[in-house]
Amino acid sequence: MNIAEGYEAVLRRVAKAAVQSGRDPGDVTLVAVTKTWPAEVVVNAYQCGLKHFGENRAEELADKKPIVEAKLGPNRTITWHAIGSLQSRKTNFVADYADVFHALDRIKIARRLSERLIENSRVDIKPIAVFLEVNVSGELSKAGINCSRWEEDPSQRHALLDIAKSVVNFPGLIPQGLMTMAPWEVDEQVIRDVFRRTRRLSEWLQETVPNGSWLKLSMGMTDDFEIAIQEGATHIRVGRAIFGPRSSNM
Ligand SMILES: *Cc1c(COP(=O)(O)O)cnc(C)c1O
Repeated sequence: MNIAEGYEAVLRRVAKAAVQSGRDPGDVTLVAVTKTWPAEVVVNAYQCGLKHFGENRAEELADKKPIVEAKLGPNRTITWHAIGSLQSRKTNFVADYADVFHALDRIKIARRLSERLIENSRVDIKPIAVFLEVNVSGELSKAGINCSRWEEDPSQRHALLDIAKSVVNFPGLIPQGLMTMAPWEVDEQVIRDVFRRTRRLSEWLQETVPNGSWLKLSMGMTDDFEIAIQEGATHIRVGRAIFGPRSSNM
C-alpha cells in the first residue's frame, strides 16, 4: 500500500467525521501506528507529512526511534506515543523513549515512570503526557482500569480516582485524559456507547480532580475512528488504514 494515499484517505475520513459532528478536524491528532513496520516505513510516513507515531510494544519503540531520528537528522519534529499496556519491568523504555503514554493503568507504573524521569533529570524539561487507559466495554480481554460499570459502581470510580491523583502528584507526568478500546466486531451502537461513556467519564474526572486536565480522549482505530471522532476523540490511533495490513498479528 502507498503510504501517501493511505494517509490522504485517512485525512479525508477524519475531516468528514469531524464536520459531520460540528468539530474542527484540526482538533483531532492522528497517531500513525507503526508497530511491526520497520524504521524505513516510519521515515517514509514522516516525509508524507505524518508527525505523530505510535508503538504498542515499548521495546519496539526503543529500537526504532533512534534509527528513525538518525535518518531524519536534527530538524525533525516527531512526537512518539507509547500506546500499549505496559508491564512494570518495562517502564523505563516508556520513560526514556516516549513523549506520550496512552495506557497507564496502575499506580505502580505511574510511580516508576516518575522515578525514572527524576533520575534522568527530565521532570521539567521533558515530562510525559499521560492518558489513563480505561476498560469501559467490560471485555475481559481488554487491558485498562475496570470502568465497565462506573456509573453505578463507586468502587470503580474510586480506583480510577486513586490513579488519577497519583498522576497529578508524581513529578514529570502531565495528565491528558482517558484512552479506551472499543469491543471487537460488534454493532456500531455498542461501539458508540463505549466511546460516549468514556467521554462522560472524562468529564466526571475533570470535575472531581480539577487540578489536572482530563478532557483529552484517545479512542478510535482503523475500523472505528469516525465513530470515535463523532463522540469526541482528540487522538485517534490508526495503523492499517495508513500502512495496509500487518504481516504479523500484534
Ligand atoms: C495496533 C493498535 C492500534 C491501531 O490498530 P489499527 O487497527 O491498525 O488501526 C491502535 N491502538 C492500539 C493500542 C494498538 O495496539
